[in-house]
Amino acid sequence: MSNSETKSLLVYDEIFLQNGNLNNLSNLNRKKYFQKKSVLYHLYTKGILSNPEICRITNMSSPSIQKLLNELIGESLVREEGFGNSIGGRRPSLYGLNPGSRYILALNISLNTVDVAIFNINNELIGEINVLHESLANTPEFVEKVYDFCLDQIDKYQIAPEKILGLGIGLPGLTDPATGKSFSYLNYDDKTVREIFEGKFGIPVFVDNDARVMALGELMFGQAQNKSNVLCLNIGAGIGLGMLLNGSLYIGHSGFAGEFGHIKVKENGQLCICGKYGCLETVASGDALIKMAKKQISAGKPTILSQLVNQNLDDLSCSIIAKAAHLGDQMAISLLAITGEYLGKGLSTLIHLFNPEAIIIGGRLSAAGQFIVDPIQQTLNRYTILKIKNDTEISVSMLREKSAVMGAMALAMNNIFDDVKYALSV
Ligand SMILES: [Zn+2]
Repeated sequence: MSNSETKSLLVYDEIFLQNGNLNNLSNLNRKKYFQKKSVLYHLYTKGILSNPEICRITNMSSPSIQKLLNELIGESLVREEGFGNSIGGRRPSLYGLNPGSRYILALNISLNTVDVAIFNINNELIGEINVLHESLANTPEFVEKVYDFCLDQIDKYQIAPEKILGLGIGLPGLTDPATGKSFSYLNYDDKTVREIFEGKFGIPVFVDNDARVMALGELMFGQAQNKSNVLCLNIGAGIGLGMLLNGSLYIGHSGFAGEFGHIKVKENGQLCICGKYGCLETVASGDALIKMAKKQISAGKPTILSQLVNQNLDDLSCSIIAKAAHLGDQMAISLLAITGEYLGKGLSTLIHLFNPEAIIIGGRLSAAGQFIVDPIQQTLNRYTILKIKNDTEISVSMLREKSAVMGAMALAMNNIFDDVKYALSV
C-alpha cells in the first residue's frame, strides 16, 4: 500500500474512531478531526445542506468548509446532492452523507427473540428486521449465536464489516447505560454487556434498557418527536417503561428507572421472573397473554387461534393473538381486554404521577392496535381524574416493532457523535 493510501485510510478511520487514539493526534490534526466530524454531525442531524448553510451553523469560512467537504467527498463519506435554490447568483451545491459509507448494527434483545437490524448512515433500514429465535441466556454460547446471526445478516446484505461504525443494544432488565452493565442478563465473567459484545464484534457498543431504547426511537423518529413528557410502554414478553420527562429520558438514580412491570397488582399472584409475586408483568405482558390463551384453548373454548398456528400452540405469539382479534375472534378480543384493563390500572397511577401528554404503546403487543388501546382507555376513564386523563393522548406506536431497533441505532449514533457535541458546546 502506498503512503498516500495509508494516510487517507488513517484519516478515514479517525473520523469515527470512538475512544481511539485522538490523544496521539497533533493539536492541529485534532482540530481538523473535530471540524470534519462536526460537518458530518450537522449533515447527519439536519440532512442535506449547502456550503453557506454549513458556514452559518459552524461559523467557519466558505473556503474552509469547502476544503473539508472536498476531503469528505474524497473519503466517500459525503456526496453531492444537486443544487439548492439561488439566493442571488449561482445556485449552491448541496451535500449529504453518502448512505453506503457507514452502517450501524442495532439489536433488540428480548427474553425469547433477538431483533437484528442494519441501518445506513441516513437512518434507513437495510432490507428488513431479521429475528433470531433464541432464549436469552447468561452464557457465552448465547452471545456466540447472536454474533453468528449478525454476521449472516451483514453478509446477506453484502455490507463490508469494516464499514460498521458501532452496535446499539436494547436489553431487558436493570441496565446502566453509562457503563453498559446489566444487573439482570449477560454479565458473566464479571464483564459488562458492553465489554462482552465489544470483545466479540470489535466495534464500539452502547447498551441501555430496552424500554428506554424504544422511547429514544419514538423521541427521534416516532410519535414522541417534539414532545416533552411521554411514557413509552414496551410490551413484549415482559413490560418495560421508557419515560421522557421534561424533554429528556429519565434513567433514575442508578439507571434503573421504569421497572413498571414489577409493581405489585395481585395479592397471592404468580411468581414473577424478578422473584416476587403478583407483578403486573405476570398478568398483563405478552407472555401472560399467551399463557391465558393456551389455558382457555385447553379448556375447549372456541377460537380460531389453534387454527392460525396449525394446532401447534408453541407457535402462539402476541402478533397471532392480535391477528385473531382483528379477524373478530371473541376469545382473543376478550383476552386483550383483560390485559388492557390491568395495564390501564397501572397506567392510571402513572398518569396521576407524571401528567404525560402522550402514552405510546409499543413492543409486540402494539400489533393489537385498538383492541389494546380501547380497554386501556375504558379503564382509565374509571380510575383516573378526567381532567388529567383528557390531556393524555394514548396510541400504539406507528413505528411498531421498528421503534426498539431504531432507538438502538439512535443510542449508538448519539454516543458516536458525543465527542463532537461536547466539542461544539465548549
Ligand atoms: Zn416482577
